[in-house]
Amino acid sequence: MTLQGKTALITGGTRGIGYAVAEKFAANGARLALVAAHGGERAEAAVQALKEKGAEVAFYVCDVSDAAAVNETVSKVLADFGSVDILVNNAGITRDNLLPALSEADIDDVIDINLKGTIHMTQALIRPFVKKRSGVIINLSSVVGMMGNKGQTNYAASKAGVIGFTKSVAKEYGRRNIRCNAIAPGYIATDMTAALSEEMTAELTKQLPIARLGQAEDVANLALFLASDASSYITGEVIKVDGGMYI
Ligand code: NDP
Repeated sequence: MTLQGKTALITGGTRGIGYAVAEKFAANGARLALVAAHGGERAEAAVQALKEKGAEVAFYVCDVSDAAAVNETVSKVLADFGSVDILVNNAGITRDNLLPALSEADIDDVIDINLKGTIHMTQALIRPFVKKRSGVIINLSSVVGMMGNKGQTNYAASKAGVIGFTKSVAKEYGRRNIRCNAIAPGYIATDMTAALSEEMTAELTKQLPIARLGQAEDVANLALFLASDASSYITGEVIKVDGGMYI
């Protein structure tokens, strides 16, 4: 599987799953446009680490929930790289609480970033993809969007929305040689899940057929397959990377 000569735009690409995807894509020949909400030392260190591994990478600060900022950023990326071949909508947040305790901001932030952010980015790149009659879109959903979860009603709704969006884009643009698939990770060890206590992690993993937390690289391996021509007849799918959590 090679991504030689391809350019990938990855949102939330400076840490966690997004960074693992960036590493994997770069190792397989892709050029990288990484987008994250914040710049600063941590993002710079991530970009530097990728450069030291030989990656061609540029970094853009952009809040994906802001449609105007997304359009501006995508224009910059297109000007810098000439074109984009692969879009990975990975930026995401949680604002967990029981339903009565969710504030309007908890609901809005999660929907605006996880779901609307995915829509904004895809909207901004769909015309260039249609124009060149090719493009690959990979959206990060979650098993929670398929199973639901206590304390994550807002997050589950956003991730279920991503699935409906993925299938619709696949139907709308398949004829233009644009594929759109979703990945539904289970529990993956990143900052997002670092808040779980050791006790909770042990309890959770005990119930999994593959009794460990997933690693970001487990997700990146699937992203590479979906981004490459090895998956050229796969579109509109939602593929779980969850150690068997869902079964
Ligand atoms: P992290 O919390 O480790 O990283 C989130 C990334 O998203 C960061 O790079 C962050 O940028 C970026 N981001 C957040 N808000 C915005 C925004 N408004 N605009 C642009 N970028 C933003 O998350 P994970 O790596 O764990 O998760 C990645 C994706 O996978 C998410 O969509 C998540 O919902 C999904 N997922 C994760 C699971 C897990 O167990 N970890 C399970 C199932 C799904 P910055 O660094 O600047 O803050």
